[in-house]
Amino acid sequence: MTLAPEVILSELIKINTVNPPGNETAAALYLREVFAAAGIPGEVVEPEKGRGSFIARIGTGERKLLFLSHLDVVPAGEGWDCDPFSGKIENGYVWGRGALDCKGLVAAEAYAVLQLAREGRPLNGTLIFAATADEERGGTYGVKYILEHCPEKIRADFAVNEGAEEPLYLNGQMVNFIQAGEKGTAWSRLEARGKACHGSVPGLGDNAVLKMVRALNALAQYRPAVVLIPEVEELLRGIARILGLDVEVRAENVEDLIARLEDRTFAETLRAITRMTVSPNVIQGGTKTNIVPDTCEARLDIRILPGQDLDYVLGELQRYTGGDVTVEVANYHPPTFSPTRNPYYRLIEETVREVTGQGTVCLPYISPGATDSRFLRAAGIPAYGVNLMAEGFDPEIRTTVHGKNERIDVKSLYKKAEFLVALVKKYLD
Ligand SMILES: [Zn+2]
Repeated sequence: MTLAPEVILSELIKINTVNPPGNETAAALYLREVFAAAGIPGEVVEPEKGRGSFIARIGTGERKLLFLSHLDVVPAGEGWDCDPFSGKIENGYVWGRGALDCKGLVAAEAYAVLQLAREGRPLNGTLIFAATADEERGGTYGVKYILEHCPEKIRADFAVNEGAEEPLYLNGQMVNFIQAGEKGTAWSRLEARGKACHGSVPGLGDNAVLKMVRALNALAQYRPAVVLIPEVEELLRGIARILGLDVEVRAENVEDLIARLEDRTFAETLRAITRMTVSPNVIQGGTKTNIVPDTCEARLDIRILPGQDLDYVLGELQRYTGGDVTVEVANYHPPTFSPTRNPYYRLIEETVREVTGQGTVCLPYISPGATDSRFLRAAGIPAYGVNLMAEGFDPEIRTTVHGKNERIDVKSLYKKAEFLVALVKKYLD
């Protein structure tokens, strides 16, 4: 008997892999045991003590498909209705941190590999399974490390990973997404400098906090230009079609289209993938109530689209903050994309249609955030995010990712696995 995916998931949730510190090796060793029991050898790649990733493969041959996922999770936070590391299975749900991001996918991918191995049908190629460390904090000990030190372990023709939205119900129709790209980051730092003096005679100084407040207020008025990349244009056209809106999708009417969506979470996501976003999330200045501060710093989370490089970001920030603060980009990653017009994308799309039934819709998707797929793409491996859920799943659970009461319905775990098995049977047949 193959272990059920809900059991694998429950066991993985019980292994605390909150990153930092991660401790993914414990979860990697659990998977090694599960695979070994099914006769599949695997290895734990551990660049630093405790930071293990598990890699296994079945089949041999030229063609290679990679199932990627990650073992680490973000901290649980407060306010849960149950222990976030209980892995409780109740009323058709598995509860706990990582149920959706990303241990649910780990379990579904593992279950798919085990099922294929049990069937014993020879594969025309190699299926690689990699559940890696450190996705939530930049991949240094996970995918990034593996690609830098032993890329042959995960090199594949293409990869399936996390990264797409869960399906949406629009006009009673289930819409599935295939993530083909991710926005880039240009985290930036603003600094205001002034002159310190005693707080009782503030006129003698030059208050850096006030300078920063003026700069941020000006930045709050910034309205980034709408940029429609082809994948997003196709996504928006699909949405307009399903909603029966008779509009031609152009940059000028994107706002109207977004305003007509009932699902505000999805609407804001669409807003984020149609422009650069700028969010001042940290501000620090001053040390003491009676000292006029001479420095103040702000840190901005900025996410960029293709065509928005370092110079563009700096130019926009300088233009909107005025000359009173200095601007620097501290952490820059360009956006990454995989083609939507290639055989791999088409194969995924065909398989999604097949396992979700007649009449379902499948649209390309761009993520406003980043996943490990960006490293694969930079290494020349096309990577796609697929996030199928079972018909009738509760869309409310989408809000539990990185939040409280994270959970997944068991049926959706089987749906994910069904897709993965079908994809392997098509590609490695
Ligand atoms: Zn994730």
